[in-house]
Amino acid sequence: MAILADYHTHTIYSRNHHGKGTVEGNVRAAYEKGLRQIAITDHGFNQKLYGIRRKDIPQLKKDIENAKEQFPMDVLLGVEANIISSRGDLDIEPEDYKDFDILLCGYHRLVKSTSAREQLGFVTKNNMCELMHHTSKRQIERNTNAYINAMRKYDIDILTHLNHVCKVNVEKVARVAKETNTLIELNGRRLGMSDDEILTCYNLGCKFVIDSDAHSPSRVGDCHFGLEAILRLRIPTDAVVNYNNLPKLKNHKQLLEEETPKRKPRAKQPKQAVNNK
Ligand SMILES: [Zn+2]
Ligand SMILES: [Zn+2]
Repeated sequence: MAILADYHTHTIYSRNHHGKGTVEGNVRAAYEKGLRQIAITDHGFNQKLYGIRRKDIPQLKKDIENAKEQFPMDVLLGVEANIISSRGDLDIEPEDYKDFDILLCGYHRLVKSTSAREQLGFVTKNNMCELMHHTSKRQIERNTNAYINAMRKYDIDILTHLNHVCKVNVEKVARVAKETNTLIELNGRRLGMSDDEILTCYNLGCKFVIDSDAHSPSRVGDCHFGLEAILRLRIPTDAVVNYNNLPKLKNHKQLLEEETPKRKPRAKQPKQAVNNK
């Protein structure tokens, strides 16, 4: 199998039946499909309906340990954090980092923002834009700065379904993704970006990850949208970090522990924010 790792899968820890399978179910599916790594990346804490709860993390970790004992493969604990403000805040705290091997970042509806103003100007505004099928230039700029700030504030491994719902200037985001070594996802359920935008990322030297965004075990490893896109656009497979290869992720505990026995907290202090006024 060409894709060796699926870094974006959901389980029942994405609440209210949003994710359908157990950790064991996802890992079993990944193992049976010949993957060498899988990440469990349920929705971030501020998603009001289906976000994972902090109090569930200890049980999730136990489930992952149990799955690792059953299947000889690398199982990563992660989260698909929500981008929740125009300043690029994610719904993750520095103390959460010690638990995670991989940090994904995406925009989702119905998230709790950092203030009433941001709730209205960032979350509600983007939901309205989606309903109207139109995003103003000002909102695109605001969203673009949010992504840029997020990549500079946090050690994000992967941006998920970029340009789906939350519209951005892909070129500007891609430049900072390249600079910060942030992978851009080609999502197995929905691409978000147009072909031109994917090519823009490629031409700027960004690296892609192809994954499933599976919400049930049967879809684990189902990456056909991403694979079709690179074939259609003639993007060389070496631009895809998990194609016949396993990348070094920023947050992967095992790799970090080999290099730095005493790890310091991985959340960066916010640097200067991009002016988004
Ligand atoms: Zn998502
Ligand atoms: Zn997802």
